[in-house]
Amino acid sequence: MRGITKIIAIAIAILASTLWASSASALTPQQTRECQQKLPPAYVKVQFIPARPEVKTLPGKQLAQTVKQASETTFNGAIAGWTDGLLEVTVDISAEQWLLSPTELCFSPMVSVDLSFRVMNVFVASELTQDPCAYHYVVDHEMTHVVFNNEAMEKAAEELRRALLRRQFENQGPIATTPQGLNMAIRQMKSSIATSAHRIFSQHNNQHGLIDNHAMRAKSLAVCNAAIPGLLNGEPKPPG
Ligand SMILES: [Zn+2]
Repeated sequence: MRGITKIIAIAIAILASTLWASSASALTPQQTRECQQKLPPAYVKVQFIPARPEVKTLPGKQLAQTVKQASETTFNGAIAGWTDGLLEVTVDISAEQWLLSPTELCFSPMVSVDLSFRVMNVFVASELTQDPCAYHYVVDHEMTHVVFNNEAMEKAAEELRRALLRRQFENQGPIATTPQGLNMAIRQMKSSIATSAHRIFSQHNNQHGLIDNHAMRAKSLAVCNAAIPGLLNGEPKPPG
């Protein structure tokens, strides 16, 4: 039983340290006071940079091969448009530190997180440029995906900021480690913050099904005098 209790205690300790290193038991009240006097309070900044991609064109069949899109959403092996995004999370942490003894150190983390998109590609089938109505219909659709991605990133940045501040205030003060352990403690904080940012973004990035569904596909077959399937099939632009 003791063994199990210990494992549970370790699991809880690891859970508590997600987002913000846990320190409460490591410093005596006197040490905590000393660290608070010597160190500035911890600092958290979370910024986000929305994507503003340009539209690129590729022949619809080449586009389908590039993105390996499921056949359900292709028109005879071609696709009308495609958007993909890859979130980038940059976590920068510097530490104001105070040496309590040769083996004990406390630090205040200065955390700065940037959320951006390493990739945000918007493609539209080049055949559609012959028909402004069809081309703009697909551009609008793909740009709505970009808007959803940007909105998810904004919400994720706000939620991450609140979570980090909550941790900071719950801990009420500097974090204890050893002089040798400082770099590792910062690396672990960076890694857990980045993992959380990706998880929170994924949870918010859930709007795409609103515009990618059977009803919207049926509409895209019919809009602009059914120009989209015709152009992707290599048929000439319909009159009018
Ligand atoms: Zn779509």
